[in-house]
Amino acid sequence: MNPFTFYNPVTLHFGADAMEKLPRELAKYGDKVLIVYGGGSIKSNGVYDDVVTVLKQANKEIFELAGVEPNPRVETARRGAEICKKEGIDLVLAVGGGSVIDCSKLIVAAAKYDGDAWDLVIRKAVVEEALPLGVVLTLAATGSEMNSGSVITNMDTEEKFGWGCPAIFPKFSILNPQYTVTVPKNHTIYGIVDMMSHIFEQYFHNTTNTPVTDGMCEGVLHAIIEAAPKLVEDLENIALRETILLAGTVGLNNFLAMGSRGDWATHNIEHAVSAIYDIPHAGGLAILQPHWMRHAVSENPERFARLAVRVFDVEANGKSVEEVAHEGIDCLAAFWTSLGAPNRLADYDIDATHFEQIIKHTMCNGPFGNFKKLHAEDVRIILENAL
Ligand code: NAP
Ligand code: FE
Repeated sequence: MNPFTFYNPVTLHFGADAMEKLPRELAKYGDKVLIVYGGGSIKSNGVYDDVVTVLKQANKEIFELAGVEPNPRVETARRGAEICKKEGIDLVLAVGGGSVIDCSKLIVAAAKYDGDAWDLVIRKAVVEEALPLGVVLTLAATGSEMNSGSVITNMDTEEKFGWGCPAIFPKFSILNPQYTVTVPKNHTIYGIVDMMSHIFEQYFHNTTNTPVTDGMCEGVLHAIIEAAPKLVEDLENIALRETILLAGTVGLNNFLAMGSRGDWATHNIEHAVSAIYDIPHAGGLAILQPHWMRHAVSENPERFARLAVRVFDVEANGKSVEEVAHEGIDCLAAFWTSLGAPNRLADYDIDATHFEQIIKHTMCNGPFGNFKKLHAEDVRIILENAL
């Protein structure tokens, strides 16, 4: 293991009664609350009414920023930061999925910064402080409810970058599985792919002696693989929603990364693709990750074989390590396809037209990936294989 310092200050309220904890959280902050939400799903499923009722009972003055896009835009965060500055907002409450949370993270940081919000994303300026952020989560996927990362798109420059800092950890997150029941089938599948991909990104590292986190990754993946096919056929099943909700949070709240440095190359390539094509994040991951695996397998076939045996129950007897490793990758690709995820760039009408631009975007900080270092030629091969 590598030496590490672990820090995660998010208070998680999980379960059917999670909203009952909101008044106690609200009491810690001032009167002015900005609710941030997306395209309206919280209005049709009753979550908005639940939140507003609690805020009114707590005598809060309510401000709203609606319309956060999936793949949230920097312009929207700028608007939110402006409201915070003008109205003297005391607490930002993100009500939605990862896009709403990520946008809110930029809002709380930009609200305390004099320059342009995009400076914080591209690290031109360092975040010194942020307004407090609370979360009511409605979609299991990103783990953003319990981490300090955010992914923001700038359509003007066709860039999509992850950024983060301790100041933007949510103070609290409310996770009621019931609030995720209305997530449609396609976004339920995307969420499952995203959380699995986060675990793979952390599982593939080059650190030795990591049996605790290896076992945790494999255990969470196993739970997801067992629940996911049943859930996509039974979207209102609360027990399955609960399993997937917790898996998404644990998948990216830093627990699985203790003592090692994950790869994260697939996420980098996907961000470059969705910056240009605006496709769902996990749709891109489902297409790209098996191809990253096939490209990276020779780096450490034993690690892939271990995944195959322990997570996909591949029978290893009488086969070479390489055969077992490849069988595991095929199992993963088949699993995502069986759920209904896309598996080729062509599924989104993406051809090689913008490959140069995508490759340039991925390489903006030089070769990347901590398990296998990728150069421009590697990215090209992965993209071509994914066509
Ligand atoms: P999302 O983009 O937040 O939401 C996807 C769709 O689901 C939206 O159309 C939303 O509709 C709908 N939705 C959400 N909750 C719903 C509910 N309860 N019922 C019905 N519909 C619902 O999806 P996401 O996968 O959570 O977030 C994706 C973003 O997160 C991407 O930009 C990705 O790059 C980023 N990401 C962040 C991290 C991180 O650690 N910060 C990690 C991975 C990915 P409405 O807009 O109407 O609400
Ligand atoms: Fe992701």
